[in-house]
Amino acid sequence: MQAAVKVLTPQEERIIKGQLTEELTTEEGRNQRKRVNKLLANFRSRPPRVNIERALLFTESFKETESMPMVLRWAKAMENILNKIKFVEDKAMVVNHMGFVSPCYALMHSYNCYIYGRIKEMYPFYLGNVTEKKLDQIWTEPIYINFRLAVNNFHFPSCTDCKFLDGCSYVDNNDGDCWGNSPSCAECLWSRQLVLCP
Ligand code: SF4
Ligand code: SF4
Repeated sequence: MQAAVKVLTPQEERIIKGQLTEELTTEEGRNQRKRVNKLLANFRSRPPRVNIERALLFTESFKETESMPMVLRWAKAMENILNKIKFVEDKAMVVNHMGFVSPCYALMHSYNCYIYGRIKEMYPFYLGNVTEKKLDQIWTEPIYINFRLAVNNFHFPSCTDCKFLDGCSYVDNNDGDCWGNSPSCAECLWSRQLVLCP
């Protein structure tokens, strides 16, 4: 194993110097960094969640990159996660701590996406609950089969290239699109091929 080098990220350096706390907790700091503070407030108001599969992939990568600068280690860990995490095409599904089944991580919880500066609300998509039905029953429900068919054939419009985008209310959230999908994967990062699924 290579010896670890002490290289801090800009954020870590600012934390050590006490700058980050000042930027995020004083009134002046809050006014200067409204967007970041809003994101942090939203993040802190929710119960913490741990994604075990993601944590394992992250740790796996960190074990291999101890001698690298921290920014590279984070990037490589993210690359490892995005390359190895399983999606619809791998016949994967996600079950949350309450037993609700979703087709992927992106549809497991609610959150906001920012697409070219435009905010989009993402709603979860649950196909059943393992406390009520067996997994194979949920997997073979027509709604789930049809959703997998749409994803595997990528049957979603390309909203970011659409000339009606500015006046279209479909893009406010992932509830639906003009092709009749509900939910719609049209602007998912994976669907835009920033990360790949399927
Ligand atoms: S949902 Fe709206 S923005 Fe997306 S392709 Fe259809 S009309 Fe265009
Ligand atoms: S395209 Fe995105 S939202 Fe749709 S199934 Fe794949 S990861 Fe989930």
